[in-house]
Amino acid sequence: MTKLRQYRGRFAPSPTGPLHFGSLVTALASYLEAKSQNGQWLIRIEDLDPLREPAEATGQILTSLDAHGLFPDEPVHFQSRRHEAYHAAIEHLLYKGYAYRCSCSRKQLQANNGRHPLRCRNDDTTRDQPFAIRFVLNDDQCQWHDQLLGPQHQAVQAEIDDPVMLRKEGFFAYQLAVVVDDIDQGVTDVVRGSDLLDMTAQQLQIYRALEATPPHWLHIPVIVNDHGQKLSKQNHAPALDNHTPVENLFAALEALNQQPPRSLRTEPLENLLKWASTHWNRGAVHLTSR
Ligand code: GLU
Repeated sequence: MTKLRQYRGRFAPSPTGPLHFGSLVTALASYLEAKSQNGQWLIRIEDLDPLREPAEATGQILTSLDAHGLFPDEPVHFQSRRHEAYHAAIEHLLYKGYAYRCSCSRKQLQANNGRHPLRCRNDDTTRDQPFAIRFVLNDDQCQWHDQLLGPQHQAVQAEIDDPVMLRKEGFFAYQLAVVVDDIDQGVTDVVRGSDLLDMTAQQLQIYRALEATPPHWLHIPVIVNDHGQKLSKQNHAPALDNHTPVENLFAALEALNQQPPRSLRTEPLENLLKWASTHWNRGAVHLTSR
């Protein structure tokens, strides 16, 4: 008998500000994908960069998710407590030749069309200047399948695109931490905003280097404001009003084109989430607004 795969999804916000409508839509889509498949849904706070994260943001995000009835199936996971795991992954990648030290400045790289003037890939001697650690990408015409958007083709350029894993300032970078954590947390399915679509081909190579099976990916269109800009803290997206969770979730279901019946607007929160899990139709989410 074949063993059924246990779905494990997650919502992984970077705490750069309070939850806004755009992030609620992403959170809800990942929650509904998991629940509609009897899966588990996790929350991971991607607090890697204290310089961009107001101290109160994590609390605000968790309070908002709570107020909207989006409870995780396991305790919340914090990337700021995972430095040992990231160190170990970097050591492993360095040892296997999948990572290298790089002290080039952004300016130097730009002036060289992305090639490293210090030939960092080949000359990995100890540096007396601060250095970043980068991942060694292979040239690749990458093909993978998005659960919503269908077949994807992404070109990856060796050296020019090599992503930073550990920044010069000593902070671990998103591309490393997201893969290490999704592996360690046994995440089988990633639902996230399509602003991260272009990250995926690189992440596939990092999975390969760490000898792990990549998850399924589903990228949902990002919500834009009236000026066509992504809702984000940088664009001053307003924080969600935690006193109106049913209204907010109803609007999020509409944004996901789930066509919720109007009667749900006056129902308790639990009923709305139950309806949404039962009727979740990922195929109805619009594909155009990337
Ligand atoms: N932390 C990332 C963000 O807030 C999302 C990471 C992911 O879902 O892969 O944009």
